[in-house]
Amino acid sequence: MPFKRILRLKKRYGQHILLSKGVIKAIVERLSIQEGDILLEIGPGTGNLTRELLNTPLKKLYLIEIDSQMVHELKKIEDDRVEIFLADATQFDICSLGGELKLVGNLPYNVASLIVENTVIHRKCIPFALFMLQKEVAQKLLKGPSWLSTFVRTFYDLNYVMSVPARFFFPKPKVQSALLEFVRKPDGEMIEDEKDYKRFLTKLYSMRRKAIKSKIEEDILKMANIDPLKRVEELSVAHVLLLYNLSKTHEVDKK
Ligand code: SAH
Repeated sequence: MPFKRILRLKKRYGQHILLSKGVIKAIVERLSIQEGDILLEIGPGTGNLTRELLNTPLKKLYLIEIDSQMVHELKKIEDDRVEIFLADATQFDICSLGGELKLVGNLPYNVASLIVENTVIHRKCIPFALFMLQKEVAQKLLKGPSWLSTFVRTFYDLNYVMSVPARFFFPKPKVQSALLEFVRKPDGEMIEDEKDYKRFLTKLYSMRRKAIKSKIEEDILKMANIDPLKRVEELSVAHVLLLYNLSKTHEVDKK
C-alpha cells in the first residue's frame, strides 16, 4: 500500500484512509457544492477527499488536522483556496473561521462523538455536515436513546446516506462505517444555554430505563401531559425539549 510506505499511520489518531474513489465521489456529490461555498474538512489525513473537493467551485476550504506529519503532506497541495490548521477538531472554535460552513470528514472514530458535539455547539455557522462514522454510532445517533442523539436531533435532521464496508479503508477498521448527513433545522434555536441543556440531558439519560417520574417533578410531567410511568428512552425529542423548557420556567418561578 502506497500510504504505508510514505507515512506511518497512527492508531491513536484513528487513521483509516478512505480508498474508495466511488465513496469519495458520492461524498462530494452529496455536498452539492455551489460557487462561493465555504467548506471545512475535519481530519483530511493524506488528502484523498481534499483533492476531490478542490475539483468543485468552492470558494474556500479549511482543513483541521491534528497530526503534524499529515499537515506536512497536505501542504503539498497547491491551491490558494486551502487553509490548514494543525489543531484538535474536538476543541476548535469553528465559527471563528467566519461565514456559514459546510462540514465534511471521514472522522477519527475514537473522538467522533466529541467532534459531533463540537459541531452542535457551533451550529450557528454550520447549516450542513456530512460525516463518515462508525456504523453503530451513526445508527445510535439516528434513533437514540442517548443524550448525544437527542442533543444532535434537537438542532439537526439526520439522514442515513449509506453504509460503507470496512474493506474500503486502509488499514481496514474492525467496524463497519456509515455516512450520516446533518441538516440544520430551520426552527432549531430554542435553547439559549447548550451547556445547561447538555447537563439536563446527561442526567435524564443516565439510568434511562427508569420511569420518568424518578427524574422529573410530577407537576412538570402533568403540564407536559406525559405519563409519569413512561421510560426516558420512550420520549421523543419534542417531549424532551418540552420538559427541559418547562423545568427552566419552573426553576425561575420557584426563585
Ligand atoms: N480523511 C482522510 C483520513 C481519515 S482518518 C481520508 O479519508 O483518507 C482520520 C483523520 O483524522 C486522520 O488524518 C487523523 O490524524 C485525524 N485526526 C484524529 N484526531 C483528530 C482530531 N482530534 N482533530 C483533527 N483531526 C484528527
